[in-house]
Amino acid sequence: MEWMGLRFLSSLPEDGQVILECTHDPLLVLLAYLVASIASLTTLGMAERIGYAAHERARLFWRWGGAFCLAGGIWAMHFIAMLAFNAPVPLRYDLLGTAISLLIAFIAALLAMNTLSHARLQPSQYLIAAVCIGLGIATMHYSGMAALRSEATLYYDAGLFVLSVFLAIAVSLAALLLALYFRQGNGILNLLLKYLASLVMGGAIVSMHFTGMWALHLVVPVDTPLALQGASEVLPLALSLGLVMLLILGGGLSAIWADRKLESKERDLLRVNTLLSQLDQARTSLQMAAHYDALTNLLNRRGFNEVFAERLEEHVQRHQSLAVMFLDIDHFKRINDSLGHDAGDELLKVVAERLRGTFREQDVVARFGGDEFCVLVSLHNADEARYLAQRAIQAMKEPIALAGRCMVMTTSIGISLFPQDGETCEELLKHADLALYQSKGSGRNNMHFFSAHLKAKATVELQLEEALHIALREERGLQLFYQPILDLRSGELNKLEALVRWHHPQHGLLSPDRFIGIAEANGFIDELDDWVLRRACQELALLCGSGYRLKVAVNCSALNLGREDLPQVVDQALRSSGVAPALLEIEVTENALMGNINQAVPLLQRIRELGVSLSIDDFGTGYSSLAYLKRLPLDTLKIDRSFIQDINNSQQDMEIVQAIIVMAHALRLKVVAEGVEDAQQLAFLRDHRCDFVQGYLIGRPLPLSQLRDYLETVPLPPRMAANAPAQAAIRADC
Ligand code: C2E
Ligand code: CA
Ligand code: CA
Repeated sequence: MEWMGLRFLSSLPEDGQVILECTHDPLLVLLAYLVASIASLTTLGMAERIGYAAHERARLFWRWGGAFCLAGGIWAMHFIAMLAFNAPVPLRYDLLGTAISLLIAFIAALLAMNTLSHARLQPSQYLIAAVCIGLGIATMHYSGMAALRSEATLYYDAGLFVLSVFLAIAVSLAALLLALYFRQGNGILNLLLKYLASLVMGGAIVSMHFTGMWALHLVVPVDTPLALQGASEVLPLALSLGLVMLLILGGGLSAIWADRKLESKERDLLRVNTLLSQLDQARTSLQMAAHYDALTNLLNRRGFNEVFAERLEEHVQRHQSLAVMFLDIDHFKRINDSLGHDAGDELLKVVAERLRGTFREQDVVARFGGDEFCVLVSLHNADEARYLAQRAIQAMKEPIALAGRCMVMTTSIGISLFPQDGETCEELLKHADLALYQSKGSGRNNMHFFSAHLKAKATVELQLEEALHIALREERGLQLFYQPILDLRSGELNKLEALVRWHHPQHGLLSPDRFIGIAEANGFIDELDDWVLRRACQELALLCGSGYRLKVAVNCSALNLGREDLPQVVDQALRSSGVAPALLEIEVTENALMGNINQAVPLLQRIRELGVSLSIDDFGTGYSSLAYLKRLPLDTLKIDRSFIQDINNSQQDMEIVQAIIVMAHALRLKVVAEGVEDAQQLAFLRDHRCDFVQGYLIGRPLPLSQLRDYLETVPLPPRMAANAPAQAAIRADC
């Protein structure tokens, strides 16, 4: 078989002579190997760059560059190796044939680089590509051989020829796989492996060439004179070609190095950018968390304060009015306590939505925590604030579905106005808060504007608070008054209610309504109630010591029902005074119980276990249900004064009082009617089987010193042994 003058698979001619003394210049062979290895290294490097290139243009550049280096490298290797070949006949090369072989090398190399530009291919696709590239390289080699011009005919040994083609395919497959492998790796080990692989690949390419040369037999006619050609003619050409190629490959390697540096810089830059944007995101979410309320998405106190400062500044410059509104959901705690915190949260969300809907886009709505909201409103006139506040009160009254129940909530609002009520944020907020306090104090579900009078009141309250602290600490000025309670069945006076009074150095005798609220609002009502309890027990012990068999009822603030240590405090007061527990009654208001029912029941049970009786005060003003009443460990129910007050004129009040007495008896509770001021009320209560009465008709609250005289004038239960002496005896007897 003959192809372009090359004879494959044909046996050597009988009449020709086979040239046997062909040699290779070892220096040039080494140069060929160097070129092949460096071309491999450059190609691997460029294939790796394709994987990192971000743009199509860059990928194209590396693809074509890689193809150029690979093709040039293999072709130069082939050509230098051919120049290294020394035969005893003159050898020349046809330029066109040589150029064609270079073109074929380039096509094969381009195919290789195209294959490598895919991130992932099927194994069969790699195989097909390797076969094509291998055949291309082989074609390049043999077409290069076909460009050889000499007197000799080129015969090829079939087996070795096939082996050379097979080697070309194997080298291609290995190159493809290695290039893919190196594309994924990084680091110094990867680099060393790449160098090693390039040397092996270079060796393999050279081996393919020399297998082809091994398969070659040069046959010349028998009479052809044979004389070895001098290597000196081809040496400069081979060296120049090698040098040029090495320079080109060096350029390629430099480009790879520069690109790698650039890429690592870009990567660093990207990393820095990513870090910066992450930092930015973190800062934004921190800002969100710091300025917004997570539950309602409204501004929180901090966020509000910042916006408020800006808005105030703007309004100062524009001479425009501004309103600060404090809103508080009435009895929010009850929702939390009775329906749970989830329902409480749900309610806050609904309220937030309603407020957003009530106020205008430009108004600032914020949640300050708990059930406290604050709104900043730009005003054209003062009436606008009133109108908007009324709208908020109205919106709040719309029924709300909560935990499967339909609730109607109300709100109290306090308003301060800029510029008349203050010129700084702090002042305006403080004054709106004062106005809110006023709204809550006057029955809730309403609004109040700040006034100078409120400020004066607040100042007085502050002074009162300080003075009350001192009074408690120094036990100076506080005193207990006792109001008698009459047993209607026996007609005897057998109970007293202890009511605290305060002799203020400037304001004179103050009733509890003036200072209980202050102690509650400032967190020391527990101290005050403890003092009352201790003092009541001590004075009861004195009365017992004088032979009186009387029971004393002591009031307990709603806030104290949250105290775990209350039973111990009661026990301690009883023990230190030596009073029998049966002589002590604790009064808790109905509202306090209902707001805290789950916590109150076990606490009251522990107090009851001491032997102390319990009474529900101000009954009728709260929202007790029979179911709740049944759960509570009570002894007595006190009908609120407001029902007794009009009992003579109001049929409705009569019926209510009557119904309460019947219901209380059905629950085995004794009934006390408070605020009995005239005989007609007393007669009604007696007729309807009320157990006890308390009020000015029976007697006003009196200090202990006057109480003794009073007690001498009324029917009392049989007295105990007069002047019972020791405390221990009192406790045993009482
Ligand atoms: P309360 O427990 O309902 O006490 C009854 C109040 O009604 C007393 O007022 C008493 O003087 C008044 N009162 C009694 N009978 C009549 C009457 O016939 N007509 C009129 N108009 N009023 C009558 P006070 O002493 O001013 O006590 C007011 C409230 O202060 C008490 O209401 C109680 O809730 C609270 N309080 C009194 N002492 C203490 C205490 O030591 N601790 C606590 N936490 N609260 C106390
Ligand atoms: Ca009471
Ligand atoms: Ca009462």
